[in-house]
Amino acid sequence: MPSFVKAEKCDGCKGQDKTACMYICPNNLMKLDKERMKGFNQEPDQCWECYSCVKICPQQAIEVRAYADIVPMGGLVHPLRASDSIMWTIQFRNGNSKRFKFPIRTTPEGSIDPYAGKPAADMANLAKPGFFNLPPAQLPASGK
Ligand code: SF4
Ligand code: SF4
Repeated sequence: MPSFVKAEKCDGCKGQDKTACMYICPNNLMKLDKERMKGFNQEPDQCWECYSCVKICPQQAIEVRAYADIVPMGGLVHPLRASDSIMWTIQFRNGNSKRFKFPIRTTPEGSIDPYAGKPAADMANLAKPGFFNLPPAQLPASGK
């Protein structure tokens, strides 16, 4: 079932132009009601239930209600993301809950440099075949 926003928890990402849920939704479904300063799913039918908005919301204001044949009514699955781990809370309808914590990365957040050790891009190579940032020795000899 689609995501929904718990209005009492949402702070509209403090009025920023693009809220965290708008930024992350791969289907561009989340919107900000600027009068109420509350996020909402503008087209629930199109929700993939990917949980991206649930994980990124800094207020933990978004929930996805799981299908009843997987999680009985009243049950809840809720993630809490940290920089190196994620904690899933499973709440059963009898009030019991369980927590599972998993590491989500092996390197410190922000430490990866995808261009490390790569040559700087040479814009003169843009029109040539091959990748424009290949070292000269690896560029195809022919081509414009
Ligand atoms: S990310 Fe959370 S707090 Fe920010 S607008 Fe969306 S629901 Fe509200
Ligand atoms: S669960 Fe995924 S598809 Fe649905 S609104 Fe959130 S980010 Fe978008």
